[in-house]
Amino acid sequence: MISLSSKELLETSIKEYIIPSEKVAHVQVGNSLEHALLLLTRSGYSSIPVLDPSFRLHGLISSRLITDNILGLERFEFENLEERKVENVMSTDFSTISIDSTFKEAFNLLIDQPFLCVVSSEGHFEGIMTRRVVLKELKKHIYQMIHSG
Ligand code: AMP
Repeated sequence: MISLSSKELLETSIKEYIIPSEKVAHVQVGNSLEHALLLLTRSGYSSIPVLDPSFRLHGLISSRLITDNILGLERFEFENLEERKVENVMSTDFSTISIDSTFKEAFNLLIDQPFLCVVSSEGHFEGIMTRRVVLKELKKHIYQMIHSG
């Protein structure tokens, strides 16, 4: 196996580390909060992308945002889950990366976010890059460095 220097690893393209869009759980902008909460709970993911029918990225929805939104004064108003839409509750304030980004760019952004959405120059959702993938790669790299010298 050819081992990369740390500098080479940081300059590697993110392409091979991406989970492709077809394998990423997502909801559509017009979906209800109930549908999103069901998907989040069943998948076990804390947050997932919100896309439109042309696979453009609009935001991220999480269980936390949903439960915050239905929190009344003294109880959760679960009856609102069905009528409220994901597009009115999702977060739009997050970093994305392009398919041409380097490992280093993704690595820096993944310090503050558990995963990054990869978006093409036309705004199409290409997939995600997760903190887990980066940590696994760094672990492999550190072990190789220890064993090679
Ligand atoms: P991980 O680093 O694998 O623990 O993933 C971190 C976060 O990335 C998860 O909590 C999800 O929010 C998101 N994520 C990871 N894999 C997927 C997937 N296949 N579909 C949707 N979201 C995912």
